[in-house]
Amino acid sequence: MSYQEYFGETHRLVRQTVRKFVEREINPYVNEWEEQGEFPRELYRRAGEAGILGIGYPEAFGGTEGDLFLKVAAMEEIARCGSGGVAAGLGSLDIGLPPILRSGGENLKKRLIPPILAGEKICALAITEPNAGSDVGAIRTRAVQEGKVYRVNGRKTFITSGARADVLTCAVRTGGPGPHGVSLLVVETDTPGFEVTRVLKKMGWWASDTAELVFEDCLVPVENLLGEEGQGFYGIMANFQMERLQMALLANMTAQLALEESLKYVKQREAFGRPLEGFQVTRHKLVDMATLIEASREFTYRVAAKIEAGLNPVKEISMAKNFSCQVSDRVTYDAVQIHGGYGYMREYLVERLYRDNRVLSIGGGTQEIMKEIIGKLMF
Ligand SMILES: Cc1cc2nc3c(=O)[nH]c(=O)nc-3n(C[C@H](O)[C@H](O)[C@H](O)COP(=O)(O)OP(=O)(O)OC[C@H]3O[C@@H](n4cnc5c(N)ncnc54)[C@H](O)[C@@H]3O)c2cc1C
Repeated sequence: MSYQEYFGETHRLVRQTVRKFVEREINPYVNEWEEQGEFPRELYRRAGEAGILGIGYPEAFGGTEGDLFLKVAAMEEIARCGSGGVAAGLGSLDIGLPPILRSGGENLKKRLIPPILAGEKICALAITEPNAGSDVGAIRTRAVQEGKVYRVNGRKTFITSGARADVLTCAVRTGGPGPHGVSLLVVETDTPGFEVTRVLKKMGWWASDTAELVFEDCLVPVENLLGEEGQGFYGIMANFQMERLQMALLANMTAQLALEESLKYVKQREAFGRPLEGFQVTRHKLVDMATLIEASREFTYRVAAKIEAGLNPVKEISMAKNFSCQVSDRVTYDAVQIHGGYGYMREYLVERLYRDNRVLSIGGGTQEIMKEIIGKLMF
């Protein structure tokens, strides 16, 4: 049997383009953006111009079509900037846009998708509410049809890019209680009645804005409904699959960067008259980190290959998210340990990787919810 790589020449070229973009447009400023708590809006436009935001989207809307591994390569290289906040903020379109693409009307798609891929408009996904996170079927934001509009009332929280978004793909309740009453509705944030009430302070992902939002008698055209009323829950669950794969990729890159930083550090730092790499205990720790990352990355790629082949490996996607997050938890912890006191200092990248990593086991479905899904498909 022949050995097959996941990445070919086209993927290598895309990877190189994104890497150069990150080196030029992000790396020189990323520490400053982290401290400021946001990156400039202009970065979306630049990423749009470089064709990065459009990777994996139809050419008809200004994107560049390709297989899933093109997207994987691009996401990994963006995450290489070492700021989960920049990766999450710049990538919020990748969770907000797919439902519009899949279920939006033609006019809506023509109007909204090109400016989002060009980086002129920011797109975000708004599902979570103060009283409903894991339990998506319990959301309370209401959308009541009145002729040609929906009247929307409710609140959302923890929304990535929420403060700056122009286009929000929102979960709303159009029907009765439970998952069957949930629909997806696009709210454009210049609609009267929409308000950003708070930008939240966080443990990590400092460079991304995470916001609390309110809709008060917000009148949204009925043509902004995605698919049929009551189908939203299924749209959200389908969307979660790619989001979980993205979280796994982000966890793997977070762990990879923590390993690379540690490998550099153990060569230069001395204790008891020799470099840290001279201690067998340190070398074994690094070996374990590298082994876990290798296994996690290969498993994630394998799951991506199944998706690319047209399968819907829900159980394996949840496993990949959980496994990669467990690996990045362990690796970022050990990386800080290897750095000693310096690992606790802001000027060392491992300090940020450790903080940024923590959310990966929570966002896009928690470790426990992943286990519920895996369990349901196992027994
Ligand atoms: C930085 C950040 C960015 C985010 N970005 C977005 C975004 O862009 N859009 C968006 O919509 N949301 C976003 N979220 C929200 C995120 O998806 C939720 O926080 C997550 O789904 C968990 O929901 P919750 O916080 O309400 O926790 P809860 O659902 O209240 O869970 C609390 C704890 O209970 C556990 N639990 C809950 N139910 C069960 C169960 N059935 N069995 C076992 N254990 C259970 C959970 O695993 C968790 O440990 C973001 C969150 C953060 C922190």
